[in-house]
Amino acid sequence: MSNEIIPRPALGKPTVVPAPQGYSGAGFMATKLEDVIGMARKNSIWPLPFATSCCGIEFMSTMASNYDLARFGMERLSFSPRQSDLLMVMGTISKKMAPVLKEVYTQMAEPKWVLSVGACASSGGIFDTYSVLQGIDRVIPVDVYVPGCPPRPEQIIDGILKIQELVAQEGFRRRYSKEYEHLLKTYKID
Ligand code: SF4
Repeated sequence: MSNEIIPRPALGKPTVVPAPQGYSGAGFMATKLEDVIGMARKNSIWPLPFATSCCGIEFMSTMASNYDLARFGMERLSFSPRQSDLLMVMGTISKKMAPVLKEVYTQMAEPKWVLSVGACASSGGIFDTYSVLQGIDRVIPVDVYVPGCPPRPEQIIDGILKIQELVAQEGFRRRYSKEYEHLLKTYKID
């Protein structure tokens, strides 16, 4: 991965989010409500960083001025699950920690998404031992995986952009669908 930093808009020039597809004319614009809500959600994600080890340091770098996660409408980190919609898991998760992670996930309101950052969170990484959870998807559903040990901030940002794509495209009714209900049941989550 190159060390190139994603360019930011020039000072004084705010990023303008493109409007969803639709029909527009003089003084009007018609589009789907679902698309407008998708656009708003996509650009105002509130992440909950669940950082347990070295990958968390990469996340700190992703938040800081060089990479500046605020460009994606994500400057408001939440350490309260009830006020977050993106759970970012970064670092080694021990089996003892797994119920805590699951509790945090279940306390988050719908709709919610999960980003697994780094080899440890995604698969246990190099720690194929009795005490380490071999991937957080053993206890909670994951939407996007970011590979690497540790992943660079650019990779974390790439994962976030993929989450944003999912958020923007998610239909209103997905969380009420039989498939989603079934998915949660497989994780024993009510
Ligand atoms: S994936 Fe590598 S850098 Fe990330 S927490 Fe595990 S050992 Fe540390």
